[in-house]
Amino acid sequence: MLKSKTFLKKTRAGGVMKIVREHYLRDDIGCGASGCAACGGAHEGPVLELQPLDRASSLCPQPHYLLPDTNVLLHQIDVLEDPAIRNVIVLQTVLQEVRNRSAPVYKRIRDMTNNQEKHFYTFTNEHHRETYVEQLQGENSNDRNDRAIRVAAKWYNEHLKDMSAENQLQVIFITNDRKNKEKAIEEGIPAFTCEEYIKSLTANPELIDRLACLSEEGNEIESGKTIFSEHLPLSKLQQGIKSGTYLQGTFRASRENYLEATVWVHGDDEDNKEIILQGLKNLNRAIHEDIVAVELLPKHQWVAPSSVVLQDEGQNEDDIEKEEERERTLKTAVNEKMLKPTGRVVGIIKRNWRPYCGMLSKSDIKESRRHLFTPADKRIPRIRIETRQASTLEGRRIIVAVDGWPRNSRYPNGHFVKNLGEVGDKETETEVLLLEHDVPHQAFSQAVLSFLPKMPWSITEKDMKNREDLRHLCVCSVDPPGCTDIDDALHCRELENGNLEVGVHIADVSHFIRPGNALDQESARRGTTVYLCEKRIDMVPELLSSNLCSLRSNVDRLAFSCIWEMTHNAEILKTRFTKSVINSKASLTYAEAQMRIDSAAMNDNITTSLRGLNKLAKILKKRRIEKGALTLSSPEVRFHMDSETHDPIDLQTKELRETNSMVEEFMLLANISVAKKIHEEFSEHALLRKHPAPPPSNYEILVKAAKSKNLEIKTDTAKALADSLDQADSPIFPYLNTLLRILATRCMMQAVYFCSGMDNDFHHYGLASPIYTHFTSPIRRYADIIVHRLLAVAIGADCTYPELTDKHKLADLCKNLNFRHKMAQYAQRASVAFHTQLFFKSKGIVSEEAYILFVRKNAIVVLIPKYGLEGTVFFEEKDKPKPRLIYDDEIPSLKIEDTVFHIFDKVKVKIMLDSSNLQHQKIRMSLVEPQIPGISVSADSSNMDINEPERKKKKLQK
Ligand SMILES: [Zn+2]
Repeated sequence: MLKSKTFLKKTRAGGVMKIVREHYLRDDIGCGASGCAACGGAHEGPVLELQPLDRASSLCPQPHYLLPDTNVLLHQIDVLEDPAIRNVIVLQTVLQEVRNRSAPVYKRIRDMTNNQEKHFYTFTNEHHRETYVEQLQGENSNDRNDRAIRVAAKWYNEHLKDMSAENQLQVIFITNDRKNKEKAIEEGIPAFTCEEYIKSLTANPELIDRLACLSEEGNEIESGKTIFSEHLPLSKLQQGIKSGTYLQGTFRASRENYLEATVWVHGDDEDNKEIILQGLKNLNRAIHEDIVAVELLPKHQWVAPSSVVLQDEGQNEDDIEKEEERERTLKTAVNEKMLKPTGRVVGIIKRNWRPYCGMLSKSDIKESRRHLFTPADKRIPRIRIETRQASTLEGRRIIVAVDGWPRNSRYPNGHFVKNLGEVGDKETETEVLLLEHDVPHQAFSQAVLSFLPKMPWSITEKDMKNREDLRHLCVCSVDPPGCTDIDDALHCRELENGNLEVGVHIADVSHFIRPGNALDQESARRGTTVYLCEKRIDMVPELLSSNLCSLRSNVDRLAFSCIWEMTHNAEILKTRFTKSVINSKASLTYAEAQMRIDSAAMNDNITTSLRGLNKLAKILKKRRIEKGALTLSSPEVRFHMDSETHDPIDLQTKELRETNSMVEEFMLLANISVAKKIHEEFSEHALLRKHPAPPPSNYEILVKAAKSKNLEIKTDTAKALADSLDQADSPIFPYLNTLLRILATRCMMQAVYFCSGMDNDFHHYGLASPIYTHFTSPIRRYADIIVHRLLAVAIGADCTYPELTDKHKLADLCKNLNFRHKMAQYAQRASVAFHTQLFFKSKGIVSEEAYILFVRKNAIVVLIPKYGLEGTVFFEEKDKPKPRLIYDDEIPSLKIEDTVFHIFDKVKVKIMLDSSNLQHQKIRMSLVEPQIPGISVSADSSNMDINEPERKKKKLQK
């Protein structure tokens, strides 16, 4: 049957257009129930179980299916995902509404309908002759949809009654809308709220934990005390923002101080400004990453960012007075020019909540079901949840979702979502840090894998089209030991004219990953490979990353080559690019390559090639540094793992050899050459990478710190900075230069990808290059794949496609890539931190030399060169008398009793794993030297109560 509807629609030009929408109604749509004779073979594979009996509901004892409305699916998806919930009918009407309102929830529903064990059935009620309803005159589309859902629920109940009288199957309508529920019951449809139904499942009490507690108006009256001021409605906020009364920006909570946050207001370019928020009431229930509206406070209420480290450790959630007292400690007399625009949150424009990982802090009150959850991310406030399984969840990493934050509640309300596993367990912790950094890490789907080449793979004639055969060249690769995803290989040989030919050969990943297919989309989403201490989360499936694309020795591999003709003085005479096929002669480690270069006895082709490369690289590097490229420093830590237990047994900072720098130099050169080429060819949509110069204020700390050691650091230009860093040497303090470079690194901006048509400033500050891009690591960076595609089009080796030349699409892609890279970096750091903890757990307490990197109001941040480890030494401890602390921001320095600490001062600290608080297991450092009575601890490990449980266990084992 065909229904058609005619609409008249005004066009923009003022004309009238007739639209005919056709709607097919069908008789052959099955109900999805197993054993339904009426529907018979109409539907492929019945989905709903014939006897859904294992779910005993006290409200509805007979077997039944559930039929939730849109809001239930949107807000209670966590409980619906529980394995105990099965046999659910998802109406087409509902699915469409969900799709319009939340893409993530829509995807989760699709995943459930694809999961055979869930028995979720999508019923296309809008195309079913008996369940389709027309919108009535005067009825809005919301009401029409509610009616359509009830009609379908009623139809189901009658249909199933016909099917089998003895089975008494029912369909239960689940809605939290009071009126809709009443109407349903009037119409004879069994209906419950989600909460009523879930609570009736007496065999599964744990399900109640996963219910979202949606704050109803009633909740707010419950306790009379209002803590927070009201959030203004969106319409008022928009008005205020328009008129300039309020400012809109992203709320960024401080990691170090739970009572402080900043809001970045995005204005017209120059207008970008940062507003500081201090105190619970001014933060007004905003959560990290929310888009908020802020009102500026009058100038006499402005504050300076506090230098206090404050962690929310309170257990008593009603102790608001104490909070206010703490807030006052933030405000100390400061220089007027340090005051920053200060404001308060007046409303939320968009919440950006996500499920949070963390741990339960079990309530001290016996039998209590209300507990506080402490997220792993310190920027997220603690969340109150209700659970009956607190004892089981103690000591576990769990996931919790936020449901709301009423005005009378110190903390937001939320509900339990998932138990990840035991705290400290390596698998669990890795899962936590991947989730917390939003690193996509599921196995690649079948759809993605289906685009991989079929094995056994070999190079065909078709692959050779537009490709040069370079298999005769003496190409080799140089990488860290154990590298299986080899992106790049090199060669260098003397030409007949006496000049040198140098080639950089990069894995031809874009040959295997074609634009727009599932494999391409997934790689674009992941954006980068993530390297953790003992795990690699690939951007592309292993067949590509470790095999077909990896430029291993003695196999034919497809490559994209950048080949220069150079003089012996590294002057470039010619540059050309070509797709190629190579056959690497050796996969070397940095150490092996170095050994060949240094060994006079070796004179084979590979070694000669390496020596040529090394010589040229030194010239290139010298020239680059003369132009003002920075050589900065950051301590990189590497763990030696026990091969059996995979526990870290040793920890050392990374050693750099000449050959590291050799490879790096040619990668930089290739990236610059390619950047120039793609920008020449596509001025509007080249994917480039820039590194903005930091604003002068970023250098303040570096300049001040150097000055306190009688050194001058100039920061007017990159060249001036590089030169003054070179000159900043102290014969009595050789490590000072490294410290200065570490500190300089902290002053830098992030390098970012951008689309050339959307930006004017291309400069790469750190490399002192006017243009730059990423070409050399396409196996592990998606940016490089796009750059390969652009370059291939530029040289006529491949064809283009619409998205490649769409600058807005490219800008969106850059945004995702920048985000993924940042997250990958954070995840990596978190992984190092966790392994450092494991290391010190087995090592016990040690004392080491350290240098002060920063001074804070109540702490010093130190670096321990031996381990490349950074940590904070606090000088105020709970339940201990407070020492006399005087902080001077100008120098900067911190005076504790009679001892003054400056940046770069050498100290001795004791390092240990503090497992007294399972919640936040951490490396704890305390001062050993200089000795300050009452503050410093002794170097030996006596009177250490911190690792008590651990030590006891060890004794027992002996
Ligand atoms: Zn049926």
